[in-house]
Amino acid sequence: MQGISRRHLLAGLGLLPWLLSGCLGSSVKRARVVVVGGGFAGATAARYLKRQAPALDVVLIEPKQDYFTCPFSNHVIAGLQAPDSIRQDYQALVGQDISHIRESVLVIDRDKRRLHLSDGQQLGYDRLLLATGISMNWQAVDGYSQNAAAIIPHAWQAGEQTLLLRKQLRAMEDGGLVIISVPDNPYRCPPGPYERASLIAHYLSLHKPRSKVLILDSKDNFSKQALFQQSWQQSAGRVEWLGRADGGHVVTVDAGRRELITEFGQRHKAAVINFIPPQMATPIAQTAGLTDRTGWVPILADTFQTQADPHIYAAGDCTIAAPMPKSAYSANAQAKLAVAAILADLAGREAPPTALRNTCYSALTPEGSVSIAANYEVQQQRLIEMPGSLTLSPLDGSAALRRQEADMARAWYASICADAWGV
Ligand SMILES: Cc1cc2nc3c(=O)[nH]c(=O)nc-3n(C[C@H](O)[C@H](O)[C@H](O)COP(=O)(O)OP(=O)(O)OC[C@H]3O[C@@H](n4cnc5c(N)ncnc54)[C@H](O)[C@@H]3O)c2cc1C
Repeated sequence: MQGISRRHLLAGLGLLPWLLSGCLGSSVKRARVVVVGGGFAGATAARYLKRQAPALDVVLIEPKQDYFTCPFSNHVIAGLQAPDSIRQDYQALVGQDISHIRESVLVIDRDKRRLHLSDGQQLGYDRLLLATGISMNWQAVDGYSQNAAAIIPHAWQAGEQTLLLRKQLRAMEDGGLVIISVPDNPYRCPPGPYERASLIAHYLSLHKPRSKVLILDSKDNFSKQALFQQSWQQSAGRVEWLGRADGGHVVTVDAGRRELITEFGQRHKAAVINFIPPQMATPIAQTAGLTDRTGWVPILADTFQTQADPHIYAAGDCTIAAPMPKSAYSANAQAKLAVAAILADLAGREAPPTALRNTCYSALTPEGSVSIAANYEVQQQRLIEMPGSLTLSPLDGSAALRRQEADMARAWYASICADAWGV
């Protein structure tokens, strides 16, 4: 199984021979590359930079000691896995001679190529890789703030928020309604809310059989829709979905009353509300002037160099790399592409050709998953989905096939975490 998923991670990444040969790394002169953010994109980048060019001074700046992954956090919320099962740390990276500074970057001084850190330290860089993921757009929805998130969790960054939602579900009385509110595109992990609804429905079927899940959606269609809806039909009406046209778009959150108000003025009260707000790149990406009107970081598709600054590259959810979705799989692949481009840049060579792949697994039940996958290439400076490369699990897939995909999802998770954090 490890072999299948490793091939998965590497397949479609046309620059793999460059990364494995080390041909770029050996010609890189001594330089400092600072990676900001130690999630799927940043941890992968730090590890591959050091592996390909051991002479490089690779510094990872990430305030957390323990990183909790969003993939499989829905299983934690639904009580199927222990919280510790999605915890990663940086010990293996440090063991590979990567410096881990446990601070946040407060300022990127692009003119001086210096970072100002939360402990007052300053740090210069030759090249920077920004991998800071998402932040919630607290201005987007009336009434939804950081304070409100302590009552109505988003659970869209794993850790405390995951545990809060899990705790609320456990404390809820049987018969209570659970609402999941989903934003419009683009946001982190397009199928993630629907996987969450499916696994929460499974939890309810076991522990609160009179309870239901209502999804209020700001869109009229969503990723893997037919597969999810087919599965919900078999859940005794436990999951109901309201699209935007049917009044699913929430415009106001009243945390005190645990109520959501839609654009058509309907009020929805629930025992537990999971409000997933619109998102954007983190404040540091904004204040450094690396974002555009969309709130995300635009990149040059062939190198993942930021459009704003040739010394700064970006990978993962902070970027706008449509049509690639914001996923851990994409973040890991983009980080490798950016590493190859940084090494080429430092060696004064052409960056290798771009080829990327994404695969997203989603659990319909604890034992059954489905997936969507596609390959991407650059044409005329734009990332495009390769015609004919999109594959989606069949609607008439057997239980055995769904089980096989659930096994592949677990194997993928183990391999991508090993690939990023090196354990
Ligand atoms: C419920 C859910 C389920 C998901 N399931 C899947 C799945 O099955 N498959 C899949 O491929 N994807 C999945 N995803 C998506 C995946 O989690 C993200 O796409 C992925 O985490 C993006 O990685 P990243 O490195 O860009 O950002 P992150 O993982 O968020 O990492 C960013 C890091 O940057 C750090 N940081 C932020 N600001 C600063 C700063 N100023 N200074 C220093 N550090 C900073 C943060 O502390 C953080 O650790 C899921 C997401 C959710 C919410």
